[in-house]
Amino acid sequence: MNKIAVYPGTFDPITNGHIDIIQRSGYLFDKLTIAVNDNQNPAKPYLFNTRERVEMIKKALLPSLNVEVESFKGLLVSYAEKKGAKFIIRGLRALSDFEYEFQMYLMNKKLNSELEIIYFMTNQQYSHLSSSIIKEIAKLGGDTSNFVPSVVEKKLLEKFSVNS
Ligand code: ADP
Repeated sequence: MNKIAVYPGTFDPITNGHIDIIQRSGYLFDKLTIAVNDNQNPAKPYLFNTRERVEMIKKALLPSLNVEVESFKGLLVSYAEKKGAKFIIRGLRALSDFEYEFQMYLMNKKLNSELEIIYFMTNQQYSHLSSSIIKEIAKLGGDTSNFVPSVVEKKLLEKFSVNS
């Protein structure tokens, strides 16, 4: 049986913390789909549109036969079912991630009890990293090169030079 996993997220934009999770989980599955959330959330407006977020991930990752990047709309469990995936990957940083992730875990399990949701503890090196912090640094003219792939650093510079 093929082990198929989906790693869903906003990835607005992808950071080195996400890439670490992709590399660590990629080894464990026959196929891993990085699934960029294309649902609109008024509480969390995107800096980059879906196409930009997908493109940045594709460019940031080394080509790999078992990793693909897509976007999805609607319920994650429905998307996972469509992909034939039995595993969902998520990352955990501080305690603050736990409450939200636990709630999502319970809800997704209720929606599809056959799905297994697997959590990767952050690499200590990336425990402080979030897409929101990166956007804040970039907006204020800070250097993001140690925290994101170069393609993302370039896009952030473009975005904030246009907007300033
Ligand atoms: P969300 O999907 O909640 O909008 P993100 O797109 O930022 O969040 O992240 C997708 C997943 O990756 C989440 O499970 C998040 O906790 C995890 N993640 C984000 N940044 C890191 C990091 N630096 N280390 C480990 N996991 C992370």
